[in-house]
Amino acid sequence: MEKIAIVGGGIIGLTLANLLPPEKFEITLYDEPTGQATKASAGIISPWLSKRRNKQWYQLAKAGAALLPKLAQDFQLDEAIYRQVGSLILQPEENLAALTELAETRKIDAPEIGDIHLLSNQETAEMLPLLKPQKSLFITGGARLDGLGYLNHLKKIATDIQFHNEKVQIKNPETLLTSHGPEQYDRIVLAVGPHLKELSAPLNYQVDIRPQKGQLIVFETNFTSEDWPVAMLAGESDLIPFNNGKILLGATHENDANWDLEPTNAAFHQLTEGAASFLIQPEKLFQFPHSQRVGTRAYTSDFAPFFGELPDGIIVASGLGSSGLTTGPMIANLLANFLNNHEKKWDSYQKSLINYLK
Ligand SMILES: Cc1cc2nc3c(=O)[nH]c(=O)nc-3n(C[C@H](O)[C@H](O)[C@H](O)COP(=O)(O)OP(=O)(O)OC[C@H]3O[C@@H](n4cnc5c(N)ncnc54)[C@H](O)[C@@H]3O)c2cc1C
Repeated sequence: MEKIAIVGGGIIGLTLANLLPPEKFEITLYDEPTGQATKASAGIISPWLSKRRNKQWYQLAKAGAALLPKLAQDFQLDEAIYRQVGSLILQPEENLAALTELAETRKIDAPEIGDIHLLSNQETAEMLPLLKPQKSLFITGGARLDGLGYLNHLKKIATDIQFHNEKVQIKNPETLLTSHGPEQYDRIVLAVGPHLKELSAPLNYQVDIRPQKGQLIVFETNFTSEDWPVAMLAGESDLIPFNNGKILLGATHENDANWDLEPTNAAFHQLTEGAASFLIQPEKLFQFPHSQRVGTRAYTSDFAPFFGELPDGIIVASGLGSSGLTTGPMIANLLANFLNNHEKKWDSYQKSLINYLK
């Protein structure tokens, strides 16, 4: 039995814990969830039309979006947690033809995009009745993932894993400092999002990672929203409908807020104003009771994630930024293959680790 400690119970930590075979690994997961990104996230899985030029990131995000339906089956996620409802992309009309062409090109090596339809004004409004009649692009492979629901489900099915709700520190590559004193492990995995810098400092690592505050609004409506697609509006205000009338509007990307977790009125106004011009009657949505969610993302200088094994044997994964629900499960899958089968098949998915961690 290999004794593994996973520090961090977000999407990477919990997916990894569930992918490792319990007959080979004795797993302990430590998580202190204040500010955790996964539980605060919006839930959009639709990376194919991103304008980002980083080829490795695209390969990783594409592979992550393709892996999720398989994980949904393996982990028996119900449709309230993960569902391919499709994504509607709303852009100025003159951009839609080029976007459709891009979707068709990307589909050649990403068939999971599904069907691609240019929708008329009427068809868009029928698909998501909160929207004004306007043209849009619809891709059927887009999905939504309820981050908190996913984590709760994974904790429930991980009966062989020991969970500790506490903040730990690292003493050396085999030892964690816990509330029960020092604990020894064969392997330590650090999946702590933006906290990697402070956590790895005692081992003299310098990490290119920063915290980014993200806020979104949760509206509790009486709409029958389960079948509605995700709507990716131009700007930061995307609409993510979940079951039971829950509609998310988000999210902000605040690089100067450090670790602040307070919801702000400025974010509420920014997000509602950003969405208003796409909605048929904004008050129809904004009148409902609402709350705000805040989380801290981790981002690197080139906004790309990094993961892998350090020379001292520690495993790290961080820097997932605003697409970590999409890339996180794939990173966990690659790390599980490494730990289980010693396969390091990640060169095409990221730049060398040395770019981010010295
Ligand atoms: C508002 C918002 C909206 C988002 N929307 C989307 C989206 O629509 N689509 C998408 O793909 N991505 C989205 N993301 C990004 C995505 O949520 C993150 O990239 C991803 O969840 C990061 O996962 P992680 O496991 O790396 O880190 P986290 O989920 O942050 O988990 C790390 C955990 O480690 C814990 N921890 C840290 N230090 C210690 C310690 N010393 N001891 C114990 N525990 C520790 C943390 O508290 C936390 O619980 C969004 C993020 C936010 C904030």
